[in-house]
Amino acid sequence: MTTLQTRISESAGFCWGVERALRLAHRAADEAPGPVRSIGPLIHNPGVIADLEKRGVNVISEPGEARGGTVILRSHGVPREVKDQLTGTDAVVVDATCTFVKSAQEKAAKLQRQGYFVIILGETDHPEVLALRSYAGEDSLVVETPADLPDVLPSRRVGVVVQTTQSQERLAELVENLAPRTRELLVHNTICSATEQRQTAARAMADQVDAVVVVGGRNSGNTRRLAELCAARQSRTYHVESAEELDPAWFRGLKVVGITAGASTPPEQIKAVADRLAGFES
Ligand code: SF4
Repeated sequence: MTTLQTRISESAGFCWGVERALRLAHRAADEAPGPVRSIGPLIHNPGVIADLEKRGVNVISEPGEARGGTVILRSHGVPREVKDQLTGTDAVVVDATCTFVKSAQEKAAKLQRQGYFVIILGETDHPEVLALRSYAGEDSLVVETPADLPDVLPSRRVGVVVQTTQSQERLAELVENLAPRTRELLVHNTICSATEQRQTAARAMADQVDAVVVVGGRNSGNTRRLAELCAARQSRTYHVESAEELDPAWFRGLKVVGITAGASTPPEQIKAVADRLAGFES
């Protein structure tokens, strides 16, 4: 019997910002005197959130639910008004917003102050984008593709900021569409370096393997985009949340399977997938 060979992407799994958010949450769970809560799930990975709940870090959706104790602001940030509401309470705030996200928020606010029509490239309902929008102003526009742009732009001075986990391909597509329609186009490429590294490594790997497994939460935008760009290169691309979802039939007759994972996927989930795949027949 020949078994499958596996190859893990050079850059996969937890990023710096997620590791920092988890460190801060674990420290708060161990040391804070009262209840510890996060506004929204700390990261987009159901297994990690379940583990945090076991440690006593519970998820709330509104600052009003904080009622004292410690509140953690997650790595992809919260809207400006949520921060303002917390300032007036007796909650201890632990800000785990990633520095890349903060930088995108500052750029969005500056574009708005300078009078640009601000366009955010990102997923409309993603918490990071909702927070970014609170800095870009109510007149800003969120688009996922150029098809979401209006026929006539309200201004020919346009500023662009990007959800940190978007792909360079989507940004290039948007800029190509906007450039001929504007007099001044100021683009802040706020895609973070962790996203860029994971996407570059995943593209290279997808070209060299017979199938790709992408590990991570289905609610994780950056994991979904990894799956999207791998699928564009390798039609046998499978997005799973856990090793149990793997089906041996997907890999029958294949030799090498590549594995990549989003920035919110812990190393033990990647290892569990690699271990299970290594036991499958090729
Ligand atoms: S994916 Fe990028 S922006 Fe998001 S937490 Fe990680 S390093 Fe920060």
